[in-house]
Amino acid sequence: MSLNDLPPWLMPLWQRAFRQGARLPHAILLAGAPGSGKRLFAEKLAQSLLCDTPDAQGFACDACGSCNWFGAANHPDMHRMVPASEEATDEEADTETDSGKKEKKKSDQIRIEQMRDMQALLEIGGHQGGRRVVLIDPAEAMNPPAANALLKSLEEPPIDAVFLLVSHAPRRLLPTIHSRCQVWDFPVPEPAVATQWLKARGATDAEAALGFASGLPLAALTFVEGPLADARQRFARDMLALPKTDPLKLAGQWESWLKAKDADKTGLSMTLLVSWLQRWLSDGARLATGGDANEKARFFRDFAPQLATLSKGRGESWIACYNELLAYRRVAQHPLNARLFLEDVLLRVARGTGSKAV
Ligand SMILES: [Zn+2]
Repeated sequence: MSLNDLPPWLMPLWQRAFRQGARLPHAILLAGAPGSGKRLFAEKLAQSLLCDTPDAQGFACDACGSCNWFGAANHPDMHRMVPASEEATDEEADTETDSGKKEKKKSDQIRIEQMRDMQALLEIGGHQGGRRVVLIDPAEAMNPPAANALLKSLEEPPIDAVFLLVSHAPRRLLPTIHSRCQVWDFPVPEPAVATQWLKARGATDAEAALGFASGLPLAALTFVEGPLADARQRFARDMLALPKTDPLKLAGQWESWLKAKDADKTGLSMTLLVSWLQRWLSDGARLATGGDANEKARFFRDFAPQLATLSKGRGESWIACYNELLAYRRVAQHPLNARLFLEDVLLRVARGTGSKAV
């Protein structure tokens, strides 16, 4: 089994695509929770549609000229549309622009200019004389003008073009886009299936990773082997040390952590840290009432014994602190001052969880 194999719970959807063959709809909306495997599936399907010699199950051969282009992310008939902020860049953080000014923060939206470029290319026709694939990921990132422009392509689709729309939040899409796509719902696999799949990928505590990712195995994988695995460990260690640490000092350390050059690429963000804090508090509150630590800790199973010691007898104040943090989660997306925000949050957490240092 290779790392790139399609997970078993996605095989029924794959077979559905394969059975349709040439009758594959020209627009498919791949809908489901983040981490259920939509993106991987969409990439595999796109590669397969462009491959010269797919295998008996419909998977791309990984060897033909088309697959080589695809692998190098420069297939002329593959149009990937992602927010500018997610586009691959070459060490741009180090490069100063001509004017010497700091570059503007890249957009989180898919914009009409991108849509128009794609449409112009589609009009020219395919390079290979075969299918063309447009992958829009995530589809809800299209701003209204971009979505309206796409609508035109979906109404009069160019011949041989297949539109794959990946969406974590399909309800946020225009109903008119929805209605022009065939919707494929991506399932959350049974825990046993997901755990087995993670173990085959070397997860030592697959249950903990799965719990942390709310049962979504591809999301869990990023906490097993991805860069976020280290981040999560560091977070938990910092939280365990919080009773003996100055929260203001920790706020400074976390600020540097978030500002580090690779933080964006690893997916570390203020929003993520605040959501981890909430999970930490939620687990702690549940553990405070005693019982089976493995069952009570939903997100930090691997730290359950230490966490239980920390929150013992303090369940109510941990819950109160958890509730307080709900309000912070909204601000975390755009805090006016990251340092002050972190200081405020960590002081509250330190007080709320009964840290002796405050
Ligand atoms: Zn191929």
